[in-house]
Amino acid sequence: AKREGMDNYQLYHSGLNLQTYRKFMLQNDLRKALERNELIVHYQPRYVVQEKQMMSVEALVRWNHPDWGLIYPGEFIPIAEETGMIGQIGKWVVEAVCKQWNEWKGKGLPPVRISVNFSGQQFLHKNMEEEMKSIIKKQEVDPTYLEFEITESTLMSNQSAVLKMINSFRNMGIKISIDDFGTGYSSLSYLRKYPVDIIKIDKSFVQDHSDESRALITAIITLASQLKMKVVVEGVETNEQWEAMKAMKCDEIQGYYFSRPLPSLELEQFYARQLEG
Ligand code: C2E
Ligand code: CA
Ligand code: CA
Ligand code: CA
Repeated sequence: AKREGMDNYQLYHSGLNLQTYRKFMLQNDLRKALERNELIVHYQPRYVVQEKQMMSVEALVRWNHPDWGLIYPGEFIPIAEETGMIGQIGKWVVEAVCKQWNEWKGKGLPPVRISVNFSGQQFLHKNMEEEMKSIIKKQEVDPTYLEFEITESTLMSNQSAVLKMINSFRNMGIKISIDDFGTGYSSLSYLRKYPVDIIKIDKSFVQDHSDESRALITAIITLASQLKMKVVVEGVETNEQWEAMKAMKCDEIQGYYFSRPLPSLELEQFYARQLEG
């Protein structure tokens, strides 16, 4: 099929490098990705230390591109933000997650909580709050099984709008977590300003084995427990990191060591094995 604008061949040979070419094509294709049903959600298990089992999953979007193959969000979410597509994609993800939750419920699986990532740009859309609420209501999902992950960089900007939305989502029973905690400029001040339920410590802390990073993780865990917040440690890849994090008494662990993000059917199998014991 012929695409709009410059011919593919012309464009590729016009002196652009492959990276620029790819970005240009992705910018164009992202608009059609939703209607062509090319986005998919993978689910990464989160392990609850005290219960010794998975009780929630993080929804991570991927783009199954017809020409380029599987594309990760690190590449296309920034494009979605630049092109103004992020609002629609954000809605699509929440809807897909709600449908998935209902599908698992219909299969008789005990409900798991699903966390969804929010981009800072989404909070610039005035209707975002109402749109999310109407999707959740329409899909008849119990909001206490939903968690919205907000990055530190989001909390840094348009603070009053973000605060208002956080409060409103929490009043519905949705959990709020701070994602990539510890990577921003004033991590501690966010804990004071924003009523959040969960802190997700950025993977750089666990992957750097220094005494300083370990001390910081311990301090965050202590602080969080006094603030009645839960702590998730992300990016646990090795047995050594796994044992260290369990010993430090964080609430939850997420990372390749426990499981990679999985397509929904594989997640279901993972969950079924756990239920069998
Ligand atoms: P994030 O929210 O920090 O998500 C965790 C990322 O770390 C995921 O990458 C996950 O696959 C990866 N990860 C998990 N365990 C490990 C581990 O043990 N080691 C290492 N090295 N990595 C691990 P992914 O799926 O490529 O997502 C990248 C980022 O894209 C996410 O980072 C999130 O910021 C964003 N993203 C994903 N889905 C969505 C979405 O639906 N909406 C928005 N706005 N952003 C999304
Ligand atoms: Ca996240
Ligand atoms: Ca993170
Ligand atoms: Ca991140």
